[in-house]
Amino acid sequence: MIVATTIEQLRDALAAGKKAATGRGGKGEVGLVPTMGYLHEGHASLLQRARLENDVVALSIFVNPLQFGPNEDFARYPRDAERDLAIARKEGTDVVFMPDVTVMYPRPSQTTVSVSGLTESLCGASRPGHFDGVATVVSKLFHLFDPDRAYFGMKDAQQVAVVRQMTDDLNFRVRIVPCPTLREPDGLAMSSRNVYLSPEEREQALVLSRALGRVDGWLAEPGITGARLRERIVDTIGTAPLAVVDYVEAVTYPGLLPAGDWQPGDGTPLLLALAVKFGRTRLIDNKLIE
Ligand code: AMP
Repeated sequence: MIVATTIEQLRDALAAGKKAATGRGGKGEVGLVPTMGYLHEGHASLLQRARLENDVVALSIFVNPLQFGPNEDFARYPRDAERDLAIARKEGTDVVFMPDVTVMYPRPSQTTVSVSGLTESLCGASRPGHFDGVATVVSKLFHLFDPDRAYFGMKDAQQVAVVRQMTDDLNFRVRIVPCPTLREPDGLAMSSRNVYLSPEEREQALVLSRALGRVDGWLAEPGITGARLRERIVDTIGTAPLAVVDYVEAVTYPGLLPAGDWQPGDGTPLLLALAVKFGRTRLIDNKLIE
């Protein structure tokens, strides 16, 4: 496994990885897993999928300041490079790119990639500028790695929709591969931010997966709609005293249009998406009904 911290090292490492792969008779295809580090089994599952489908598995670890708001957790975002590298190695990663902020943004940039429409609701509404930061850094990573496939978790369903739209609009040749959300044994969606939770918050945060887990049962009720599913989720979350709802929405997927009138059998996938704060920690989760 080669660990690159500069763009030159990254280019050399990718070239070496592709050459070795083609020497073994492979196609030299590159699968990229972009992350902010503090890796958990959710990230590992993306690396495993990439390992299955590509000759060269590349991982980026970069806490991207552009996607954090001024009052968000950029400075205290958890970091543990050594642990991350051990996980990357265990999953058979070939190239890890861990740049400093000065490598990714050596000078004030005057270019922002901004996806309209899809970024105005859900996390885009509560985190102004967040998806501009995501789209900008992901396009830089796509240019730097020129991957054949890039792996993203559906835990960030809106991010998947935004990245797909950007990829199509700007003719990136990469194929975006959405991957399922991995959960702790008790149901909590895995997230680097879960370490912020106090034991009491951690216990109450289970209400999120519990609410989403009840959706399948509610779907069987006559007359159920997107709006009613949303209300039931809000009511369930309301049973946890520490939960402060940022949003709970029922929207179409991947278009993210309001879907209060949605009914089972409509033929349109429904996304039930939520963001809820426990203390200072904002957690997101969702359920896609296809
Ligand atoms: P992050 O480091 O949180 O920015 O996440 C990097 C990638 O891992 C994103 O594509 C996330 O959607 C994905 N990811 C985060 N948590 C999970 C999870 N619990 N299951 C699957 N993928 C995840």
